[in-house]
Amino acid sequence: MEINIENVSMTYPDGKQALKSLSLNLRSPGMIGLLGPNGAGKSTLMKLLVAALLPTSGAIRVDGVPLEKAERELKAQLGYLPQDFGLFDELTVTEFLDYMAALKGLKNPKAHIWEIIRTVNLAEKAKAKIRTLSGGQRQRVGIAQALLGTPSLLIFDEPTVGLDPEERIHFRNLFSRAAQNSLVLLSTHIIEDVQSVCDHLVVIDGGAILFAGTPEQLIGIAAGHVGTFWEKEAAREQGLMITARINTGQGVRCRGVADRLPACVKPEEPTLEDAYLYLTSGEVTG
Ligand code: ADP
Ligand code: MG
Repeated sequence: MEINIENVSMTYPDGKQALKSLSLNLRSPGMIGLLGPNGAGKSTLMKLLVAALLPTSGAIRVDGVPLEKAERELKAQLGYLPQDFGLFDELTVTEFLDYMAALKGLKNPKAHIWEIIRTVNLAEKAKAKIRTLSGGQRQRVGIAQALLGTPSLLIFDEPTVGLDPEERIHFRNLFSRAAQNSLVLLSTHIIEDVQSVCDHLVVIDGGAILFAGTPEQLIGIAAGHVGTFWEKEAAREQGLMITARINTGQGVRCRGVADRLPACVKPEEPTLEDAYLYLTSGEVTG
């Protein structure tokens, strides 16, 4: 599957422009991390991809076919977890997944539903009403419904919100396994969620793409722009965005990014997080 997003803009009825002439190609299989601060336009882009919203201008093509025409075929092979996913509180986990499987038109879904319940570690809660579940368990029900029917396109909007660190690791592995045969698009503002599992990263901010490429390429952008320094020495230096502060016996040691590193800064190898912060801090020029 290949999805081409061409010059897509989206302005909401109240006049807010959420996406500005955005172009992007997504190809399966693979796992793509969509990164960006709150309000960047991640959810809007995902809603456009699942045809829940229509772009104000521009085109989205699925395997060459305009999304308006491919909508039915796309939805048959789509799993989507919206950011604000309402659950049916009075249903049990199994009843809810049964219902979602029926909506997806799955035939004889019982064994498949059980397999998914086990995949998301909810076997003990299969007969529990959704109302009684914790935030993390509810999020896992949301992930489970997206996995129904083993879709070839999986779109997860901030799927790790509410999960504890152990669950986050579990799901990272699960998403990356799904990405062996499918196209998985996952939005987050947590770098650890995409580090080491996504083969491609897209960073958006203000409705525009700041970066699209591999994690290594993103790290490369920050090369020469990251370093550590003593807070007292750099107090009056301009242009440093502090990304970490460590209290030591000798004072506060900081890590920061800057377009031009001041002389007091000791250059360091950038991490993915440094690169992301450098990119979204607006320090990148040219
Ligand atoms: P993200 O998911 O990256 O946090 P969103 O796509 O939700 O970003 O939002 C992008 C921008 O569009 C934000 O400024 C947000 O306030 C605005 N926005 C989102 N949904 C609506 C809506 N239904 N009506 C008007 N503005 C919206
Ligand atoms: Mg969002």
